[in-house]
Amino acid sequence: VSSTAEKFDFFYLVQQWPGSFCDTRQGCCFPDAGKPAADFGIHGLWPNYAKCRGSQLQGLARAVLGEDAAALFSAVGRRGRCWPEYCNDGNTLSPWEIRDLVASLDRNWPTLSCKSGRSFEFWSYEWKKHGTCSNLEQHEYFARALELKAAHNLTAILAGAGIVPSNTETYSLSSVGDAIAQGTGFTANLECNRDADGEAQLFQVYLCVDREVKQLIDCPLSMRSKCTDRVKLPVF
Ligand code: 5GP
Ligand code: 5GP
Repeated sequence: VSSTAEKFDFFYLVQQWPGSFCDTRQGCCFPDAGKPAADFGIHGLWPNYAKCRGSQLQGLARAVLGEDAAALFSAVGRRGRCWPEYCNDGNTLSPWEIRDLVASLDRNWPTLSCKSGRSFEFWSYEWKKHGTCSNLEQHEYFARALELKAAHNLTAILAGAGIVPSNTETYSLSSVGDAIAQGTGFTANLECNRDADGEAQLFQVYLCVDREVKQLIDCPLSMRSKCTDRVKLPVF
């Protein structure tokens, strides 16, 4: 735990649609625990500022130099950051601390990257980059993310609005946003990516959470989303 409390404004609970992670040109791999369910999976719980602080240099550094250099850059100073990250590199995730959550994390926070196939590495990365800035202990960080996901079941909310996985159907982006606002009571941010044929599809949903990690809030920022007016929700 870092010695000083991080002062951020809200969290993003970011969830990825596995079908959209996997059907890109890059593809995906299933983790040791096997093929995940056709359900949104957690990507991370990210502390966030409502306004970037100082200049936009962090984003620029990331765009120009890539993730590693951006991390190095952000360690240099506190100006120009849009969110806190890597608040305590010495605080590495302990399997023991989260041992009672592993079965649920395997189901709800699986890695789909081909790097290692070990979801624990994904959780460790997210903990180090974002969790160490959350002012939460390791167990609380993962437990809260799991609770929030369970309390607002995106897959069920979308299905209830007739937005079901399909490789042929497209859905209006506004109907997706409306369904989530109706189902959770709060506006979210949506991010799309492209399938191997270049078609836009719903990739990640960003629910916004108050800084006490108690309840959802309307997202204070709307972001660049790479979405088009109509999007797919591909079968997984
Ligand atoms: P990308 O460039 O793929 O959108 O994001 C790369 C990484 O930067 C994300 O995985 C996440 O760690 C971090 N990131 C991107 N956007 C945000 C944001 O709005 N808030 C926070 N806290 N992190 C972000
Ligand atoms: P962020 O985008 O939070 O910086 O980090 C994503 C990192 O976690 C990337 O380095 C990526 O390789 C790794 N990773 C491992 N599994 C997954 C996954 O299932 N989805 C995403 N988006 N990234 C994953």
